[in-house]
Amino acid sequence: MIKKITDIFKEKNKTFSFEFFPPKTPVGLENLYKTIKELSGLNPNFVSVTYGAGGSTRGATLDICREIQKRFGLTAMHHFTCVGHSQSELKVILALMRQNNIRNILALRGDPPKGVEKWEPAGDGFEYCYQLIDLIKNNHKDYFSIGVAGFPEGHINCPDKETDTKYLKIKMDHGGEFIVSQLFFDNAMYSEYLERLKKKNINARILPGILPITSYEGLIKFCNTCGATITQEVHDIFKPIQNDEEAVKKAGIEFAVKQCRDLLERGAPGLHFFTLNKVEPVKEIWKRLGL
Ligand SMILES: Cc1cc2nc3c(=O)[nH]c(=O)nc-3n(C[C@H](O)[C@H](O)[C@H](O)COP(=O)(O)OP(=O)(O)OC[C@H]3O[C@@H](n4cnc5c(N)ncnc54)[C@H](O)[C@@H]3O)c2cc1C
Repeated sequence: MIKKITDIFKEKNKTFSFEFFPPKTPVGLENLYKTIKELSGLNPNFVSVTYGAGGSTRGATLDICREIQKRFGLTAMHHFTCVGHSQSELKVILALMRQNNIRNILALRGDPPKGVEKWEPAGDGFEYCYQLIDLIKNNHKDYFSIGVAGFPEGHINCPDKETDTKYLKIKMDHGGEFIVSQLFFDNAMYSEYLERLKKKNINARILPGILPITSYEGLIKFCNTCGATITQEVHDIFKPIQNDEEAVKKAGIEFAVKQCRDLLERGAPGLHFFTLNKVEPVKEIWKRLGL
């Protein structure tokens, strides 16, 4: 039986999970299933599948979640955004998730599509994530377990961390049950985030999002769009070796192992790995952490 992540939390005081994205081609999809098959051998507590900003991969999120649950017996979490969707479309997709035995959703507002500067809700769509949570709750009560995104450094469009925490609290009060964080490289920032949230009475689990670095250039591009800070330590390690793919991969694994060990020592309730659909880095990190 497919579990709700909140029920998994009742059994496990720490969870380990993997995030995948839907590939654009049939070959990519077959490779993804091979990757998931291999990583399923590590017995993650759940896996999640991202939702594209638009276009053909969006429906794929549901198909992949269904297949992951059927083929590998894993619990899947469907990322779900408000981008470009009217309320009636959101309702149809939620009903489809339910028909397909999806029990877990990472509820998100989403970002404007490529080339569009400012966020605009779709006609009759939603402005903020908490409204999507309301829609889920109003139509499906407690059928779905609902996670939300959290930003240790504050969301890129939010004026300051206090305001960011205030908005996160609204998401939690509307039905968010746990938080998956944006990537970060300075663990002190994660600890500070936990403290900040505790002060505002946000006591849900905050799963740190871990990115095993496999490309310095890719990292810079991604962090420019999401606003996450690349620490001086990361620049110092990866800049000089950026053109040596193998060296970057090796250093990425070492950095992630060190970061994960320290996070677990700081009391993190698990780790959520952004796998980038790759087997090796996560498998090696897993082995070295002795998970
Ligand atoms: C772990 C993780 C997974 C992700 N997966 C995906 C994915 O699969 N697909 C995808 O497209 N994107 C994904 N994202 C990116 C995410 O969609 C963007 O970061 C988006 O800009 C914010 O989404 P949100 O749900 O946090 O929005 P919200 O919480 O709605 O916040 C959006 C903006 O509005 C502000 N705000 C929030 N509430 C209020 C309020 N009540 N009043 C006024 N202002 C408010 C916030 O400060 C923020 O600037 C992911 C992010 C993370 C951290």
